Amino acid sequence: MLLRGAPSKGDPRKAHVRRTVLDDPSEAELSAFRILQNEFATKPWPAHHDRNRQLYMDLDASKEAGFGAMVYHTTPGYSHDPQKPPASTAIQPVLFLSRCLSRAESNYWPTELEVACLVWVLRKVRHLVQAAPVDLPVIIYTDHSGTTAIADSASLRSVASDRLNLRLVRASQYIQQFRVKVFHPPGVTNKVADALSRLPSTDPTLADEDQDDLDALCVTPDQSDQHSSTIHISDEFRDRVRALYDADRRWSSVIKTITTPSDDPVQPVLPYEYEDGLLYQVDAEGTRSLCLPKSLAAEIFRLVHDEQAHQGLDRSWSKLRGLVFPRGLKLLHEYIKHCPQCMDNRTARHRPYGSLQPVLSPPVPFHTVTLDIVLGLPMSSDGFDAMMTVTDKFSKAVGLIAGKAKWDGKDWAWPLLTFFWMANWGLPAAIVSDRDPKFTQGLWSAIFSILISLLYSNTKVSSTIFRSSSPKR
Ligand SMILES: [Zn+2]
Repeated sequence: MLLRGAPSKGDPRKAHVRRTVLDDPSEAELSAFRILQNEFATKPWPAHHDRNRQLYMDLDASKEAGFGAMVYHTTPGYSHDPQKPPASTAIQPVLFLSRCLSRAESNYWPTELEVACLVWVLRKVRHLVQAAPVDLPVIIYTDHSGTTAIADSASLRSVASDRLNLRLVRASQYIQQFRVKVFHPPGVTNKVADALSRLPSTDPTLADEDQDDLDALCVTPDQSDQHSSTIHISDEFRDRVRALYDADRRWSSVIKTITTPSDDPVQPVLPYEYEDGLLYQVDAEGTRSLCLPKSLAAEIFRLVHDEQAHQGLDRSWSKLRGLVFPRGLKLLHEYIKHCPQCMDNRTARHRPYGSLQPVLSPPVPFHTVTLDIVLGLPMSSDGFDAMMTVTDKFSKAVGLIAGKAKWDGKDWAWPLLTFFWMANWGLPAAIVSDRDPKFTQGLWSAIFSILISLLYSNTKVSSTIFRSSSPKR
C-alpha cells in the first residue's frame, strides 16, 4: 500500500518499506500501532438488504481458486449508467460470497466456469433476487462476455466448441427464471469479487462433488430412468384378467401345468409364479412381470402407442416393462405397422408406383371376357343367391349366370362352360378376373380338367377309330 507522503522510488522508498522488527518501540510507535489495530478490529457492518432498493452483484471466477461474489446496494440517491458498475465509494456491501472450486469445476473451460459462478450465486441468494420488485431487476456485473450471452440465451454456442453445450443450456434455462440483467463492462475488473475468488482456503481439501452447481441443475438420464412406481391393479381389471386367462391358450396351459400336482419325481421348473389368480413371469434376477392375455393386447397397445403421440416400437415397448404378452413384441410391431394414423403420416420410402397398364385386346367380339361373382343377393325361387357376370370386353355384351354363395370354384366351372356354349360366345382367348380365391383355387383347375377330359374322350374316340380302321396292326 502506497502510504501518503512516503518516498515513491529509489533508496529512500526501499528504506521506507523495509520490514524492521521493533524490539523496543517508542510511545509514538506504540500509539500508532494501536490506532491501526483498532481500525482493523472494528467490524465494518455490511448494509441491510432492502428489497425496494436496486440490488447489484459483482461476480468473478478464477480458474486457480474459486468463485467470488459481492452483493451490494449503492448509497441512497446515487445514480449511474447501469452499463457500468457504480463507483467504489458509493457501494454499500450486503454480503460477500466465496468458495473453492470442486474437482469437476477445475476442469471447466472459462465460459462454463463463469456461468457456474453465476448459477452458484443465484442459488445462494435467490431469496434476494426473487424479492426484487419487477421494475428493479438485479444488476449483475461479470468480467466475462460469454456469460451475458448465455444469461440472455442470445447464444448458447461458444467459440471453443461447435457443439451445443447441454450444461450451458440447462444453466441458461435456470438463469431465465430470475429477473436479472447481466452486464459485461469492458475493461473493468470486479476487484472485490476477483479478490474473493482468489481467497486462499484454509481448508484446501474442499473438493466436494455436491458443490458442482452446474451439474446439480441437471437430471442425468440414469437418474430419470431409475424412478420406481407402485402400480395398483384395480379389482375390476384383476377380475377381467383372470377371466381372460381361460380363453388364452398359452397362459391357460402354463397355469394348468403350475397348479396341477404331478407324480413325476422330477418336477418341471417353469419361470412363472401363480399368485392370487394372476400369473407372473419371473426372470433370472427374480423380477416379476404380470402375464396378460393376448386379448387385452390391443387395449394396452392403444395406451402405450396411440395415447403416447404414436411413438415408435422401441419407446412403446419400453412402456410395457413389467407386462408380458405371448409374442408381445411381434404383436406390438404388427399393431404399430397397421395403425391408421401412423400409416397416414408415414413417409413413403418405396419407389414411386408405375402407371396402370390397360389390358390390350384386338377388336374381336368374345375374344377377351371379364368375370366376377356377385354375392349377397336375395334368394331366388330356384334357390340361387349369387351370380357370375361375364362381360365381353369388345362388344360389352353381358352374360349372367345364376349360382349359389356356397359354391366354390369347381362348382362354377360347369355353368360357365355351359354359358359359353349356350350363348354361342365360344371359348374366349383371354379371361380377366380378380384374385378371388374361387378363381385362383378351384375354377381354372376345374375348367381345365373338364376340357382335358373332353379332349381325352375325343382322343379315345379317335384312337378307337384309328384301331378300327387298321385292325391288322
Ligand atoms: Zn400410430
